[in-house]
Amino acid sequence: MLSLNRQAIALISDHADPAAEIGSEEAGGQNVYVRHVGETLAALGWQVDMFTRKAHADDESIVQHSPHCRTIRLKAGAEAYIPRDRLFEHMPEFVDSFQTFQRTQGMNYPLIHTNYWLSAWAGMELQKTSGIQLVHTYHSLGAVKYQSLVEIPQVANTRLRIEREILERANCVVATSPQEQETLRSLVSTRGQIEVIPCGTDTANFRLTSKAHARAKLKLDSREKIILYVGRFDERKGIETLVRAFALLKSHNLQNLKLIIVGGSSANMPDGDERNRIEHIVDELGLKDSTFFAGRIGHDILPLYYTAADVCVIPSYYEPFGLVAIEAMACGVPVVASNVGGLKFTIIPEETGLLVEPKDIEGFANGIHRILFDELWVRKMRKQASANVNQRFSWTGVTIQLSELYRHVLARSIMHEQAWSYKVPSITRSA
Ligand code: UDP
Repeated sequence: MLSLNRQAIALISDHADPAAEIGSEEAGGQNVYVRHVGETLAALGWQVDMFTRKAHADDESIVQHSPHCRTIRLKAGAEAYIPRDRLFEHMPEFVDSFQTFQRTQGMNYPLIHTNYWLSAWAGMELQKTSGIQLVHTYHSLGAVKYQSLVEIPQVANTRLRIEREILERANCVVATSPQEQETLRSLVSTRGQIEVIPCGTDTANFRLTSKAHARAKLKLDSREKIILYVGRFDERKGIETLVRAFALLKSHNLQNLKLIIVGGSSANMPDGDERNRIEHIVDELGLKDSTFFAGRIGHDILPLYYTAADVCVIPSYYEPFGLVAIEAMACGVPVVASNVGGLKFTIIPEETGLLVEPKDIEGFANGIHRILFDELWVRKMRKQASANVNQRFSWTGVTIQLSELYRHVLARSIMHEQAWSYKVPSITRSA
């Protein structure tokens, strides 16, 4: 449903479909971010259209999420899976499809919020022929990613150039943590406007509830100590580090330990290959009986998994933000995570979790052990973790900050202001 009184804005998320099922190859934090930001912006009074590439022939072209928020899937290349590194060549068609949609539907978006570098390119192309204002969120940075890759993809130079251009040309870039802001300044460009507005989580869904109830619902043994991983199967998520840390703990004869790995995968896709690799390591280390691969779990059931766990582990090599950390903490589960990126921002060491150097198997084993065997401390951490997320990372609070930013950008464009005088409003409690 469109409303003439509402200001229409577009969110562009080239590969990460906001209407997709979350938790496998192309569907992770970015999908969750765009979907929640879009729906919450609509609740705040905007008309929100979220554009993505149509990647499956039998997907609907338009999905209406709520009266003023919809996902629009545009034709750009074959209606089939195309790896991100090969999507750039289809982005001109994406821009054409966007313009055709605008024209035929009589839509006009004065502001576009782009997500990921491919969408940034589309946004800058659209800006060439219209007076749109651009806001951008990176979600992942080539300059960081390529540091840890042995084989750099062909598209790398283009990506690095676009990531610099969008920082210098967008009306504002949204960094999701002060650590991302620092990285942008040191690795991308010293020019351009950056505001720090974090990601959020649905604090009505991810919240403190009874562990005994969650275990009973999931048919999990109440005597077991449960170590949980949630996320995509991707080598850079560091699942191998966790499995090896788990083996180290088991080698000390600790009883009743269970590792649960949550995340989807498909055969003959990169996430399927990574799952096979991890399963192979689990077998090799003799952990098959104590490890459970739960597959992809939706956000309706996921709170039960967090709540049932004793500790959630995030062993990533890098995370610009890391939604899983705030989801787990919101459910009162202490986190042992890599001391990288946004995880340094969301986790308060010793109060809501622990930070360990990435790939440090012994460090992860020690951190997990401390949390599993100090009941009094953990009881305190449960409350602190959940309160921390409620205060700092509710979607409503976060989206109010984005909404204010958009208003400022739009007002500035009308007034032709030169100086940037915006201050992100603070959120101190969940809205
Ligand atoms: N997720 C999910 N089901 C799964 C695995 C993951 O819903 O089986 C969700 C998870 O809850 C989180 C997102 O996928 O909301 C992952 O976001 P994060 O920022 O942690 O990592 P990314 O995927 O962006 O690298």
